[in-house]
Amino acid sequence: MISVKQAINIVTDNLKPLGKTETKQLGTATNYSLFEDIISPIDMPPFQQSAMDGYAVNLHENLTYTIKDEIKAGDHHLSVLHKGEGVRIFTGAAVPDSANAVIIQEKVKPTEAGIQIDTMPQLNDNIRPMGEQVKKGQVALKAGTNLNTAAIGFLASLGISEVKVNQKPSVAIIVTGNELVQPGQPLPFGKIYESNAIMLDATLTKLGFNDVSIYKIEDNYSATISVLSKALNNHDLIIVSGGISVGDYDFVGRALNELKVNQLFYKVKQKPGKPMFFGKFQETVVFALPGNPAAALSCFYMYVYKALHILSGHNNFQLPKVEAKCQTSFIKKGGRAQFLKAQYDTGNVHILEGQNSSMLHTFALANALVYVPEEKMKIKIDEPVATILLPIN
Ligand code: AMP
Ligand code: MG
Repeated sequence: MISVKQAINIVTDNLKPLGKTETKQLGTATNYSLFEDIISPIDMPPFQQSAMDGYAVNLHENLTYTIKDEIKAGDHHLSVLHKGEGVRIFTGAAVPDSANAVIIQEKVKPTEAGIQIDTMPQLNDNIRPMGEQVKKGQVALKAGTNLNTAAIGFLASLGISEVKVNQKPSVAIIVTGNELVQPGQPLPFGKIYESNAIMLDATLTKLGFNDVSIYKIEDNYSATISVLSKALNNHDLIIVSGGISVGDYDFVGRALNELKVNQLFYKVKQKPGKPMFFGKFQETVVFALPGNPAAALSCFYMYVYKALHILSGHNNFQLPKVEAKCQTSFIKKGGRAQFLKAQYDTGNVHILEGQNSSMLHTFALANALVYVPEEKMKIKIDEPVATILLPIN
């Protein structure tokens, strides 16, 4: 059995961006990654700009200035200022080339011909130089950058209205189990409600992966083969839930083998999620996660999350990991690494009650996972622990 670190490395080493591109209107490109560097088509700001309401002046030794003109945002005036002259100016307006400081209006007293100040301004005070953020022809954002909402705004400020992005993977969720009943239906004895499909689909949607197909199958070898083989040919990434353990009715492993899916690992020294499979069939990526809902979701965050972002061409695909002071003591049984559902708040973390891999209730209250490495057997109160922050808000 391999370690968590080895498993994460195997996922990272065996995946690359899909390499498929699409052009999107800027407003629909949030959370896509840039396919190529964006070269700025303009200087930003496009002209030297006043950062404040006040007076743009051509500095001299004296503390009084003659005011000749008024320039508001959007105006185009060719005012030429000699030393000791200035113009009334407002935030965002073009500062004349011959001005070399903007004095904020709170610092001036009016005089008959203009203004008076108490102290000498600094050279270039309150002037945003032309091209301060980015110059025309420079790389504004690099290929692989995630288009967060600020990046969308930044590109709009450069006049860009559409972008070439990396396509996101088409995902299949395959849920297995004879015992599963659709929520909303009556619950016969011995059955349970199916929760993994909707949970994984909701997580994918939240992360911006919208091309998701859901397949549900019973514990049946030929059904498993036929659905898996269809999914392998139609999707970039497959998440199987359940049926990957060693029970007589767990058919997923055998079906993956029969379909010649190349196994890259099976079983990880971790809790929850020991019987987890990762493999590839040509370029299609396959994760088979244990059916226990909390285990499936832990494995999703630890491995599938990473895979989705690599396939989508994102440079930065780690969930944030912080060191937090543990406010709960914990004793680990056995030598597997553990991911513990936890509540993180400003540097402190509480490990929650109910860590069983079937317990979604606990997961519903968690906003973090505390990572306990294989070799660590107990956690004392106030001990620093590695804490993975979940993208739940
Ligand atoms: P398996 O990995 O198929 O052996 O399933 C492990 C446990 O998770 C069993 O108790 C299953 O009933 C439960 N389980 C499997 N799939 C689901 C699902 N989609 N929704 C809820 N529980 C599930
Ligand atoms: Mg099962």
